[in-house]
Amino acid sequence: MGSSVTATCPCGQNTEIMIGGGMNNFMTTCYFPCFCGNCNAVVEANLLDRQMTCPHCKTNKIIPYDDPTLAGETGKNVVIRWNVEKQLGRDLILTDGNYRCPQCDQMTLRFMIGYLLWD
Ligand SMILES: [Zn+2]
Ligand SMILES: [Zn+2]
Repeated sequence: MGSSVTATCPCGQNTEIMIGGGMNNFMTTCYFPCFCGNCNAVVEANLLDRQMTCPHCKTNKIIPYDDPTLAGETGKNVVIRWNVEKQLGRDLILTDGNYRCPQCDQMTLRFMIGYLLWD
């Protein structure tokens, strides 16, 4: 079962993103928040897609939010950990630290666990 996170920033960025995959597609689907410099937004992309693209502008220049270039200060707490070691060779982890915001380009974006549950 998947869950969701919200990405918020003082500049007004506020997006809810699904994480992971459902019961039937967890081998091929793993949603995760990504940075799209084209849309200046946090977007939801399937990291297990061979051609990972932004769902809005279709660019492939998106960066998953577990990339070190997007992380500022690492938080003490893990907001979400998604086990895709088999598929991706790494676990996807988001902490409650600061991340680069695609809208204002400051290290002030934060992730919180969302309320949406889906499968
Ligand atoms: Zn985009
Ligand atoms: Zn911002």
